[in-house]
Amino acid sequence: MKAKIIKGQTTSATRSILADNIPLDTPYVIQIFPVYGCNFRCNYCIHSLNPSERGYIADKKFMDFDLYKKCIDDILEFPQKIKMLRFAATGEPLLHPQIAEMIEYAAQKKAANSIEIVTNGSLLTPELSNKLINSGLNWLRISIQGVSAKKYKEISDVSIDFEEFVKNIRYFYDNKKDTQIYIKIIDCALSEGEEEKFYQIFGDICDKISVEYLLPAVSQINYAEISNHEFEFTQNGVKANKDIEVCPQVFYMMQVNPEGNIVPCCSMETAYIEGNNLQNSLVDIWNGKKRKNFLLMQLNKVKHKNKICKECQIYKYGAFREDILDDRAEQLKTKLL
Ligand code: SF4
Repeated sequence: MKAKIIKGQTTSATRSILADNIPLDTPYVIQIFPVYGCNFRCNYCIHSLNPSERGYIADKKFMDFDLYKKCIDDILEFPQKIKMLRFAATGEPLLHPQIAEMIEYAAQKKAANSIEIVTNGSLLTPELSNKLINSGLNWLRISIQGVSAKKYKEISDVSIDFEEFVKNIRYFYDNKKDTQIYIKIIDCALSEGEEEKFYQIFGDICDKISVEYLLPAVSQINYAEISNHEFEFTQNGVKANKDIEVCPQVFYMMQVNPEGNIVPCCSMETAYIEGNNLQNSLVDIWNGKKRKNFLLMQLNKVKHKNKICKECQIYKYGAFREDILDDRAEQLKTKLL
């Protein structure tokens, strides 16, 4: 197998101690949410629920290209270069008709050290792959939902031509230039004995590969019915710090939603709106009072006052050891005030 197996670590960067660097003058990660919609209905994702069962997520389905350009131009105003620009969030980015142009615009402007897409990969065709390969994309992260068409039907409620799907990923791999491919599968999509088959099918058509642990990311979904294990590990397989109270993510990232709302995390439902990129620049929102108030709520360990944060589990399973802020919360408050 050509690909490197990832287990118990991040896929790329080494992490510094987050508390030593707060307050950050520049976010580490900006996540672009280009499409609120998905062609899959994976049973562990909020898209498996009817819209009426979901909380507020976004007002628009597709992000306008003009708003996107403003966002990238704003990113260039931060004092430092951001580490990662990631196209992901509550939807499938490849549904956006201008996704390759979006990547190209950010790459030409050198907006981030790394530009990445998280996708289910089902919309990759040779034509789209050629555009993405030439766009300046650094990482294509593909979430696999099974090792057969039958499993895709079961997990994602979708009918796919599995052979064609694999062939299209292979096309990208065989023709790629500087883009790296990371392929992952969620453990609940593998039946007994299928892990080896997963590595056999995908291990020679990507650069990095992993089996990730399912996380209880959506409070309305009963994960005990889906999962075959207790929730003890982060998605990378490290023992989770389930007792932490301060959500670290909000201190180093921001997400731009399709209508321009800026939210502090990648929770599938909107926890808080720090501002709107149509009205204010990203730098002003990052340094603004609304965001500061949200960070102070976290440091005061009263996240139960926020309806979404109160139910949220993902920060416990997403926090790396270097990111934990609980013991330094009082000191960090004085730095923010
Ligand atoms: S606790 Fe959850 S919902 Fe709240 S900011 Fe953190 S990740 Fe988002």
